[in-house]
Amino acid sequence: MIVAMLEHASEDQIQRVTDHLMKMGFAVHRTTGARQSVLAAVGKRIDFDTRDLEVLPGVERVHRISAPYKLAGRQFHEHDTVVKLPNGTEIGGKEVVVMAGPCSVESREQLFAAAEMVGKSGAKVLRGGAFKPRSSPYTFQGLGLEALKLLREAGDRYGMAVISEVMEISQIEIMLPYIDIFQAGARNMQNFNLLRELGKVRKPVLLKRGIAATIEELLLSAEYIMSGGNYQVILCERGIRTFETYTRNTLDISAIPVVHKLSHLPITSDPSHGTGLRDKVAPMACASVAAGADALLIEVHPSPDEALSDGAQSLYPQQFSELMEQLRMIAPAVGRTIG
Ligand code: PEP
Ligand code: MN
Repeated sequence: MIVAMLEHASEDQIQRVTDHLMKMGFAVHRTTGARQSVLAAVGKRIDFDTRDLEVLPGVERVHRISAPYKLAGRQFHEHDTVVKLPNGTEIGGKEVVVMAGPCSVESREQLFAAAEMVGKSGAKVLRGGAFKPRSSPYTFQGLGLEALKLLREAGDRYGMAVISEVMEISQIEIMLPYIDIFQAGARNMQNFNLLRELGKVRKPVLLKRGIAATIEELLLSAEYIMSGGNYQVILCERGIRTFETYTRNTLDISAIPVVHKLSHLPITSDPSHGTGLRDKVAPMACASVAAGADALLIEVHPSPDEALSDGAQSLYPQQFSELMEQLRMIAPAVGRTIG
């Protein structure tokens, strides 16, 4: 950490900051320039709040050098993490993995029609919500256990791994026998109790970025899961809340290269929730792959106009297969392959 003192800072003030840093366990090296003194604090601690120093008298600015996360960052783990799924699919390797399916599992017919179609088009993971986080309590809330059983059966039939959202701790055990990836949703990105419990399981977790979360907060949430011993974390950019109203959210594509630089964990892009409108999904999926996304999460419904949730952002089957064809041209241009 670097602490720049104000030009007129007194010796007493500089000493007080130095003592504070030493009490925190840092070795302090002082440089006195022509204009101001700068204190370089060297140590292994990452659990500090720079504001504690910023508010001390005589301090001009504090600059943090080490990231506040250890396990999720590249600083201590240089090489990319590759998450392996039971169907042989690897997320974080050369292949861009497509996860697709309906927002919610609504019926056997609906799910199997979606699964057959996305599987044949090249999706490697079947998505489908069993427990749904809906903004209104009066809308469809998901089929629960019945949906999980259908997901497993459909995934196995068409050779796909299965991902579904976990909303609370008690659902972890119910879901364990049926799913291959736990999805921690945007609304739960900072549900730290849930994240800690997901740290105890030994199945991959796809962690979505919160609606108003910074990338640093996303990585700190990944740290919660990893500090419990579960290192199979897949991050997901799904759009953030901005002042823009033409799209449901603003898909932050720049988060993809930012995460790749800061973290070794794979990053997924979800252009469905990221835009909220089906005609925007394909262009943003293509842009995400071009920007280096390791996976895509895409909502597809056999008849989106009748969907019980997120119909407007769900692709028609034909649109999904056309998108896969487009992605097959884009992926090799950025050194990737696609199913
Ligand atoms: C979903 O994937 O259907 C979902 C609810 O996602 P998010 O948590 O990104 O809103
Ligand atoms: Mn949805």
